[in-house]
Amino acid sequence: MESRLVIYNTLTRQKERFEPINAPHVGMYVCGPTVYGDPHLGHARPAVTFDVVFRYLKHLGYKVRYVRNITDVGHLEHDADEGEDKIAKKARLEQLEPMEIAQYYAHRYHQAMDLLGCQRPSIEPCATGHIIEQQQLVQQILDRGFAYVSNGSVYFDIEAYNKQYQYGILSGRSLENIKDASRDNLDGVGEKKSQADFALWKKAQPEHIMRWPSPWSDGFPGWHCECTAMGRKYLGETFDIHGGGMDLVFPHHECEIAQATASMGHQAVKYWMHNNMLTINGQKMGKSLGNFITLEQFFTGQHPLLEKAYTPMTIRFFMLSAHYRGTVDFSNEALVAAERGLEKLTNAIGDLERIQPSAACDAETERVVKSLRERCYDAMNDDFATPQVISCLFEACTVVNKLVDHKATICADCLKELTEVMHLFAEDILGLKAEKSGSGDEREAAFGRVVDMVLDLRARAKAAKDWATSDKIRDELAAAGFEVKDTKDGVTWRLNK
Ligand code: ZN
Repeated sequence: MESRLVIYNTLTRQKERFEPINAPHVGMYVCGPTVYGDPHLGHARPAVTFDVVFRYLKHLGYKVRYVRNITDVGHLEHDADEGEDKIAKKARLEQLEPMEIAQYYAHRYHQAMDLLGCQRPSIEPCATGHIIEQQQLVQQILDRGFAYVSNGSVYFDIEAYNKQYQYGILSGRSLENIKDASRDNLDGVGEKKSQADFALWKKAQPEHIMRWPSPWSDGFPGWHCECTAMGRKYLGETFDIHGGGMDLVFPHHECEIAQATASMGHQAVKYWMHNNMLTINGQKMGKSLGNFITLEQFFTGQHPLLEKAYTPMTIRFFMLSAHYRGTVDFSNEALVAAERGLEKLTNAIGDLERIQPSAACDAETERVVKSLRERCYDAMNDDFATPQVISCLFEACTVVNKLVDHKATICADCLKELTEVMHLFAEDILGLKAEKSGSGDEREAAFGRVVDMVLDLRARAKAAKDWATSDKIRDELAAAGFEVKDTKDGVTWRLNK
């Protein structure tokens, strides 16, 4: 299967032609959430980014197995190997079972991602469901001499690994640099050969709730193990794409590469993809900065930094207006602009149905329509350049608006093409679906009030003996499918389906 798709590979630092290992099958692993708090923008960006990758690969005809894990044995604060597990901490504070916390927030995460129009992955494995696979991975690394047991914990031996392979190839960091950076890391002092070594298995302290028996101690796996173990279990020893946020490049993905290579003698992943980070009003998002906004707060507008509520599709559109490898800065102005852009697009798609074709196109319409599909594909094939797709779709919106205003003409074939391409790229590939404003009941009520108002105008026309206006209103309503009856108690109406 031939495709012109080119993907930027974080590992090689260049764009590479996408050639799956086992086409038409494609394996894609994306690091999912640690479920101990409400989903926020930091969760939305990788979910939306890789949802578009998932949709587009499927559109190209690949059979994609998309695996996204749920980290339910919480990795620890500050990515260190010590301290209290995030999920266990929340469980202690709220007096709940750790699994209750994980289940609750996994559910909240799903709800929010569904609203953002993200398709569910093919497999969503949980770390706690794969303790045995993680222990097997640790044992393999020990057997191959790249790890050591110390006081019941197992650590990855970076010095030993570096004699044969290269630790730091993904992040481009040197071993010296990594050692320097981990000098302040107090975890495992006295247990580790080098402070840069990371935990594969940790012996649980007596107060630690989440623990499993192992050959080394009652304990729990190091955070990096789950993705290596579950990626291999569901996608095989080598697979195509591994994705996640740029903040995971080091240490998480660097450690994953080391674990895979140490256990198998070769890397697992062909293309590493990373989405960039986002800021809020130019600042990094963080609980201590008071600019930590959950997705629910965006959807309801309930946050001091928000001037109003923003729909999930506005958030999605806003994220896709930037390339996934670029940063995104959220501000009310930017979101309002995104809201208008999305409205322009969905209105134009809605208007397509109202356009009547002519015998021929005018030159400008023909030019835009005939190149539209190709230009949208070119953009997507260039490392998923969604901003370029959106700008092509906006050109199409301009054409639609002219057609609606009878300032342009389009032939039947071109109208069909325009309609197909706009639906395909806006809805199927970018996943932007029109949102109904308000619930069905609200819409019904608003609609009823408009009909009542029109009938009131007719009654006034009648009272003023303006029969022409009164008849015109009745006829127009009838043409639109409304049956109006004058009874002795007043006027009644109903819509004939
Ligand atoms: Zn991961």
